[in-house]
Amino acid sequence: MNVTDRKQEVHDTKVLDWAKDIIERSPSDRLVVDEVLNSVRRNEIWRGDECLNLLAPEAPTSPIVRELLSSEVGTRAAEGHIGKLERWFAGTQYIDEIEALCMELLKKAFGVNYADHRLVASMIGNMAVYATLTEPGDNIMSLTQPYGGHSSNRQDGPAGVRGVNIYDVPMDAKELTVDLDAFEKVARDVRPKLVSLGASMTLFPLPVREISNIVSEWGGKVFFDGAHQLGLIGAGLFQDPLKEGADVITGSAGKTFSGPQSGIILWDDPELTESITETIFPTLAATHQVNRVAALAVSAAEFITFGEEYMKQIVANAKALAQALHDRGIPVLGDHKGYTETHQVIADVSEFGGGYPVANKLAEANIIVNKNLIPKDRPEDWDEPSGIRIGTTEATRLGMKESDMEDIAELITSILKGYQSASYVKDKVVEMRKTYHKLHYCFEK
Ligand SMILES: *Cc1c(COP(=O)(O)O)cnc(C)c1O
Repeated sequence: MNVTDRKQEVHDTKVLDWAKDIIERSPSDRLVVDEVLNSVRRNEIWRGDECLNLLAPEAPTSPIVRELLSSEVGTRAAEGHIGKLERWFAGTQYIDEIEALCMELLKKAFGVNYADHRLVASMIGNMAVYATLTEPGDNIMSLTQPYGGHSSNRQDGPAGVRGVNIYDVPMDAKELTVDLDAFEKVARDVRPKLVSLGASMTLFPLPVREISNIVSEWGGKVFFDGAHQLGLIGAGLFQDPLKEGADVITGSAGKTFSGPQSGIILWDDPELTESITETIFPTLAATHQVNRVAALAVSAAEFITFGEEYMKQIVANAKALAQALHDRGIPVLGDHKGYTETHQVIADVSEFGGGYPVANKLAEANIIVNKNLIPKDRPEDWDEPSGIRIGTTEATRLGMKESDMEDIAELITSILKGYQSASYVKDKVVEMRKTYHKLHYCFEK
């Protein structure tokens, strides 16, 4: 590779150079393997044992789920639909059983008529929705990034790839929900074929019913991208988009749902079944990681058993954490509405330097959150937004309760306000994690 090629590299070349150097200097490839194992181990010790992981899109998976992710079935190829005749390959009878169990458990967990288990990511599910429910040139409406809208429903994601025209869903910056009057005006003007709701920054339910009523006048459909809220939806703690008029839901299996990182798609309308199923295969999935499907089946069973109690505690913890931060003088979004109805807490940290430096400073203290755009930011402020997003899923699965949220708020505040050094707080976090190690809300191995 010459120097000009290197300049085209989008990834950070400092880190790539670190890796290249190791590979070049290593007397054998076996030693490079050790380097990979070492990096995995370093992450396991640091993030797994010593950090307070408050990233909203993460969840720790149960011991059975983790074991299944390295199972033999993960080396098998099973392109196609469930059943002997529907497969490309022979030898799939046990794989059919695994996939059928997974699909039926998903339907039971969410109380829906139809589900699909073959999405290796929720992004792929969103692509399936755009491929099924829109044509190039159609108008759609979706949320902008400062209101939590996700790239998959914007120009730079599957929606953009499908070639649809994207109009913004107007939002109310104070209420943190859709501005319905403004929505109705835009919608009547552009008559969207599809409205994509749901968001990565998500505090409160959205008016799915009202929006569905408006767009159904011209046959428009509603898609709820429930990547983050999926577990809360399944437990009946958030809104139930399908019952409120949405036509289809996608979600990440590895966010609040706490299964293996991948995607789930759910719908009730029989009319959509053939088109969605046949878009997933053969268009968007081939070998779809049957080890992951087995793990997803177990996650669904765990969810049916423990989900309600688990998700309730996640939301209770988020509310407690938001209140505790507010009480310590950290501005938290949604304070006049009880801060949050999800696993997320959004803090405006502009007075403490902004989302990027604050997230880095917290990471130095072993507290992991992410920088986040908030309504007062512009979409192009992506690198240096004003907010941070904090999630309670992992802390909850480790057994933490409301009183622990007070302790966490104290640690976060002492970093933001500079009361304590990062190394002091880091020691406290490491100490705290020693008490919280066992996973809850799952079956024993
Ligand atoms: C995380 C997220 C996705 C992507 O999900 P993956 O499972 O990571 O592919 C899509 N939409 C929204 C709103 C998200 O937050």
